[in-house]
Amino acid sequence: MAMMVKITIAQRRELCAMAAATPHEICGLLLGDGDIVTRLVPCRNVAADPAIRFEIDPAALIAAHRAARGGSDRIIGHYHSHPSGVAAPSPRDAADAAPDGCIWLIVAGAVVTGWRAVAGGAMHGRFDPLPVEVSGCTGSGDSPQGRNAIPPR
Ligand SMILES: [Zn+2]
Repeated sequence: MAMMVKITIAQRRELCAMAAATPHEICGLLLGDGDIVTRLVPCRNVAADPAIRFEIDPAALIAAHRAARGGSDRIIGHYHSHPSGVAAPSPRDAADAAPDGCIWLIVAGAVVTGWRAVAGGAMHGRFDPLPVEVSGCTGSGDSPQGRNAIPPR
């Protein structure tokens, strides 16, 4: 099982921009190959209270599974945002998560953190931290760690 998740600087910028555009939690699927995210698929958040939780539109999930069977990249996980600014899984996330090895990315402000849903995880007994490696840094103020970079508007 991969020990990190790899995204591009453009993907991180897109995640932060999408999260900043709404007071609601954003969510979407991560398509990829192994530990490399090749595509972000923004999905509708159909949760009853989208300001504090997320639920990926089941129709989008079904469509992505169908596309994967057709040879597209596999679904390796999903992302959502925390408008609260806390870039870590909430107890509610842990309660909702199956210990299926799925990759979770959480966006809060300019920070994107990675997690893997497992049995007996270090966080809330459900998530182990998964380092996020950001590739394609331009050297113009983008930080690979994502902690200091403000996405350009
Ligand atoms: Zn959450």
